[in-house]
Amino acid sequence: MLIETRGNDGIRDANIGLYEAILKPSASFNGLWSLKNIPQINIDDIKNLSYNDLVKYVFNILGADSSLLNEALLSYKTFDNVNIPLEFDRLDDNLFLQKLYTGPTRAFKDMAMQPFGKILCNLAKKDDKKYLILTATSGDTGPATLEAVKNQQNVYVVCIYPNNGTSDVQRLQMTTNSASNIKVLALDGDFDDAQSTLKNLLNNTNFKEFLSQHNFSISATNSVNFGRIIFQIIYHIYSYVYLLKHSIISDVESINIIVPSGNFGNALGAFYAKKMGVKINKIIIATNANSVLFDFIKTGKYDISNRKLLKTNSPAMDILKSSNMERVLFHLYGPSRTKELMENLDLYQSYEINKDELKELNFYFDAHTSNDNDVLSTIKKYAQKNIIIDPHTATALLAYKNYNMKTIVASTAEWSKFAPTITKALDLDFISNDKDALHYISTQFALPIHRNIESLFNKDECNNTIVSNDNICDVIKEWLIDID
Ligand SMILES: *Cc1c(COP(=O)(O)O)cnc(C)c1O
Repeated sequence: MLIETRGNDGIRDANIGLYEAILKPSASFNGLWSLKNIPQINIDDIKNLSYNDLVKYVFNILGADSSLLNEALLSYKTFDNVNIPLEFDRLDDNLFLQKLYTGPTRAFKDMAMQPFGKILCNLAKKDDKKYLILTATSGDTGPATLEAVKNQQNVYVVCIYPNNGTSDVQRLQMTTNSASNIKVLALDGDFDDAQSTLKNLLNNTNFKEFLSQHNFSISATNSVNFGRIIFQIIYHIYSYVYLLKHSIISDVESINIIVPSGNFGNALGAFYAKKMGVKINKIIIATNANSVLFDFIKTGKYDISNRKLLKTNSPAMDILKSSNMERVLFHLYGPSRTKELMENLDLYQSYEINKDELKELNFYFDAHTSNDNDVLSTIKKYAQKNIIIDPHTATALLAYKNYNMKTIVASTAEWSKFAPTITKALDLDFISNDKDALHYISTQFALPIHRNIESLFNKDECNNTIVSNDNICDVIKEWLIDID
């Protein structure tokens, strides 16, 4: 059962099931849906479960409808290892890399988006309703969404990305997708512009009337949708059990988990895992120069009033309003306090928790921040050991110090998505584009390029319409009339 983070407005249902929240992610007072009860896991019960059986176990104890799960979990069959959608590398005695990028788009978004997308599409088909997903992406959410829903009936996706604002690989992952239920739009402007254009569309009365006339309902696939979060709890539990099963830790030992964070969906999954009784000491939040989460966890003050969004070399973490922190506030301080804090954020662009509340927060979280230069030198340092990491993973490795405790570092993207940053870190300034950088690193370090990445460069960019703020609404309407 799910309830709302800012309390109930007396109009909506106060309790809904997972599938309802997937289709209608909006909650009272602009809040989010979150777990009503957080049950305890019995580690003995899960020790010998396969990954997919663990997913079912977690759905069960959370009371989530699992009727569509078998089919959804088939999507993990396309990952590198057909039995487990993640892999581990041991970097030293205490340090483990949790590779969450073995799916079709080579970034961790696939871990949740693949099964979640299948559930969403099946729900839409069962409902016999048409759902429109509008998404603004800075690079990774877009490709993962498109890959999860391509060629499905009843779900249509408009994906808006900043023209010239993504890497070549990220752009090609979107613009070469020829599925008829997908429309990719390159917006003149940056990611902030893409997001505010999206917001304007969702508030545009004329556009909303058009959608209801044509029987489209709106849904969302970003991590405000709880359907994504539930899948992000599981790999944290699995990782702990993996260390236990391989006798790397004993059953009285705790572990640390380091998560490169942006919208806080991945870290929220680890928070739930700890709440469910998994022996996690601290969840360490790694941030880049957009260090608002770092400040909050260290001082209790979440303040974006004096901040501008900075472009960094770990772009998937370039976020100021980290949506899923709201769910943590809700579980720690309750709905009325959460509503108050979130209203402060809207009104004053900041909120502050008191000392006792901060103490509670710090029972779960610690934080570390780094900048672009730190990231480059870390990539170089690991490359000298023949380990090629992406810039997001580098922010997490920077947060690692020997805590005398086994530590899991979430690795959220394959190097191949950010190859030019890696050649830059290696001072190979003569390489200027994604394709050359990919091939150079692949050859130099004997790393395969996944077929999904390699093939991008031979495909036609058939799905790419350049739009502006002024014509985007008409372009979307025309497309929807066309496919109707
Ligand atoms: C989305 C993303 C992140 C941030 O994850 P959140 O759940 O939004 O905190 C980090 N790294 C990569 C590569 C990503 O795609």
